[in-house]
Order: sequence, then structure tokens, then C-alpha cells
Amino acid sequence: MLPTVAIVGQPNVGKSTLFNRIINERLAIVEDRPGVTRDRNYAPAEWLGHKFNIIDTGGITWEDGKIEEEIRAQAEIAIDEADVIIFLTNVLSGITDLDEKIAQLLYKTTKPIILAVNKADNPEQRVNIYDFYSLGLGDPIPVSGSHGTGIGDLLDKVVDSFPEKSDKVDDETIAFSVIGRPNVGKSSIVNKLLGEQRVIVANMEGTTRDAIDTPFTDEDGTKFRLIDTAGIRRRGKVYEKTEKYSVMRALGAIERSDVVLLVLDASTGIREQDKHVAGYAHDAGKGVIIVVNKWDLPKKDSNSAKDFEKVIRDEFQYLDYAPIIFVSAETGQRINQLPQLVKKVHENQTQRIQSSVLNEMLLEVSKLVPTPMVKGKRLRVYYITQVKGNPPTFVVFVNDPELMHFSYKRFLINQLRENFNFEGTPIKIIARKRK
Ligand code: GDP
Ligand code: GDP
Repeated sequence: MLPTVAIVGQPNVGKSTLFNRIINERLAIVEDRPGVTRDRNYAPAEWLGHKFNIIDTGGITWEDGKIEEEIRAQAEIAIDEADVIIFLTNVLSGITDLDEKIAQLLYKTTKPIILAVNKADNPEQRVNIYDFYSLGLGDPIPVSGSHGTGIGDLLDKVVDSFPEKSDKVDDETIAFSVIGRPNVGKSSIVNKLLGEQRVIVANMEGTTRDAIDTPFTDEDGTKFRLIDTAGIRRRGKVYEKTEKYSVMRALGAIERSDVVLLVLDASTGIREQDKHVAGYAHDAGKGVIIVVNKWDLPKKDSNSAKDFEKVIRDEFQYLDYAPIIFVSAETGQRINQLPQLVKKVHENQTQRIQSSVLNEMLLEVSKLVPTPMVKGKRLRVYYITQVKGNPPTFVVFVNDPELMHFSYKRFLINQLRENFNFEGTPIKIIARKRK
């Protein structure tokens, strides 16, 4: 679980310049991995070995963007989403009315706030930062986003303010999230699920952090953590239904999950945005369950589910491993099956297969299907072993990794799926040269 840092501040103080500075190096590395989706306002970053996610709240805009409303929404997003907040101001303008307003909003949270004063490009400007003490948010830190100075000191302070990792990550707890575009019924599903009689929601009193996760136990004693039930807690907030924000929130939730429930709306069919969110979950190697909600709405005959399933398989070909379940948050149909399905997928994604069993499979497979010839050279596969779970990752030792094309990897993955139960989880295969 990575900490999240948010940058807030009035327009033109230099938020996006600073954001780009902070993520710069990481972006270059991430970029050459194909299929990885990037976001301009939400990105992974790293400082001195501390990894975190950073949000530029200024990049999240909404239609009738009255400035007051915009900064309020920014501050609320930061308070709701972040572990540490960077409040960015501008030394050239001094403290403005908007700065005062933002400070007022930020007084409400107990989360650490770091006051940074931007555009302190030279020593003459840096002496002016002391005025900013009057905001009552502690020591102002001079930075220059465009020159890149002071960023190290700022990040030192950010990293020092990360919450202690005292919430012990419990290995037995299965973390999952409910994601999808606005209005597909995420919060309705969450409410219904947590309202089930068999589900016991843990008492959240005494939680110090502004908690966004809901721990609960199923009747068989399985422990779950439902990530980011924002739909409930954030109802009515200005920003809640904006697309940018919903994508950003989905990214954060996916990252912290073992299993992702991708919710589709049976009454509207599949949209482009559904695919974006699904792509993130797949790229991140998470377990995926496709939940078709509002199943009470379409007129149905005996083939309806089959037909819809076919459309889903066509549209989400890379998610061929994901089980599909048809539910209705309205009538409650099959909602009670969700926890057990999550549990099953989690078992599949964490299982370890013995090397002896894997190599037996390899032997059988190679008897049936010869390995491919590539440019006159035959691929030889010597040995396969599972190096980790979640997602299940296999290393295959071969004569020459260059000969192991995508199609043969795909073939091996299919063989693994046929021989073992990996439903709901992506599988990774790495080819290594045998020494
Ligand atoms: P945002 O609206 O808060 O995201 O601000 P931007 O990052 O878009 O920056 C607004 C303007 O301030 C741009 O013209 C930047 O080039 C300029 N700017 C950003 N950082 C600095 C800085 O450290 N020094 C100076 N002099 N200008 C800066
Ligand atoms: P979210 O934005 O994804 O959290 O979606 P909501 O849970 O707010 O639901 C959006 C709308 O769809 C609301 O009006 C819900 O009452 C409605 N809705 C949610 N689930 C169902 C369902 O299973 N059947 C029907 N008919 N309506 C639903």
C-alpha cells in the first residue's frame, strides 16, 4: 500500500510544474513498458527509495469551474485521498485571498500539511518566504519548480511525514475494490453487500486515520477489506462524479487491491471508459471479476446472459480469465455470492504449484505439440518453475529467450489454465536462458 501525496494550491502557482518535476524520472522508466496507462494528474513517484503516488489536484477540472468551488473541491480531494498534502503558494504574489481560503479548508484535517512556497528562484526571493508563516501551517519551504531547486528538501519532509506502517498488513485479509465508471451502481453494490446479514462489518471506532477501507468478515470467517468505499462516504461532494476524479480514484483503489470487481451496466452496455478501467486492473496484475449490474433492467429470454457474455468476451479479450457474474444491486440478486467469488479468485491467484507437477505438464505438452522453429532455430524448453503468486509468475528456462514468442507464451498460459485453476487471475511468464 503506497502512501499518496496531493498537491493543492490556487491556479498558476506552479502545481503541474512541480508535479512533473517530482514524477519526471519515474515517468521515463514507466513509459517504455507497453500497455501501461499513464495519467497526467496521478502518477507513481519515488524519493530516496520511498515509493508513493502523487496527485495534482489542479488537473481535475469540472464544467462550471467557479474558482472558489474549484479550490474547495481540490482541498476536499486532498483531504480524502492523500496521506500527506503539499500546499503550494507563490512567493511572487505573496499570500492571496485564495491562499487564505485554502488554508481555512486545510485546517479541518489532521493529516500532515507541508507548506511550500514556489517561484523562489533566487536568494532575493527566498527571504520573502517568511511572510508565509502567518498562514499558520508551519515552516514554509522555498522551492522553484521551474529551476528544480528546493525539491529535495520538500520531498525529505514529505517522506518524513508518511504515516507509520502500523496498520499491519494482514496476510489473511483479502483486499478488493469495486470499480467502474460513474452510475454503473458501484455504491449500490457496496451498500447491499455490507448490508447482507451474513456479513459482519468491523467496528471502525478508534480508527485514527480518515479511514477509507471497510474490513468485514463473511460467515465462514474469511476476512475481507473493501477498499475505498468512497461511493458512500463521498456522496454529494462536488468532485465525486467527475470523470477525471473517478479514473484517478480507480487507479488508487486498484493498486491496493488483490481482486478488482469491474462493474458494467447491463442497461447501457459496454462503453469506452469501461475498457480504460479494465485495462488498468489487467496491467497491474490484479485478479478481476466482471460484475454485470442492473440485471433486473433488460428484457430477458433464455439466452440473454449468454449473449451478453459473448459481447463481453469480444470487447475484453485480454480478460478471458475473468469470471462474469450477473447481479442486481436493486433486487439483491446474487450480491451475496460476491465475497465467496472474491475468495475463490484470491485462492487461485495465490496458489503455488510444485515444480515437479509443472514439469510433468511440460513433458506431456511437448509430446503433443512441438516447440516452434524461429528463423531456422528450434525453441527448446527445459524447465518451468513458479517464482511467485499474486499474480502467478512462472520462469521458463529455454535455449534462447528470443525464440520464445508471444504466441508460445500464450500457449503455455493456456496449458496452465487447462491443468490448474487460475480463474480470475492473470498469469505471467518470463523466459530465461539456461546457463
Ligand atoms: P498550476 O496552474 O498551479 O498547475 O501552475 P503551472 O505549473 O501551470 O505554472 C503556472 C506558471 O508558473 C507557468 O507559466 C510556469 O512556467 C510558471 N512557474 C512554475 N513554477 C515556477 C517557478 O518555480 N518559478 C517561476 N518563476 N515560474 C514558475
Ligand atoms: P455509482 O456511481 O457507480 O456508485 O452508481 P450508484 O450506485 O450511485 O447507482 C447509480 C444509479 O443506478 C442509481 O440511481 C441507482 O439507484 C441505480 N442502480 C444501481 N444498481 C442498480 C440495479 O441493480 N438495478 C437498477 N434498476 N438500478 C440500479
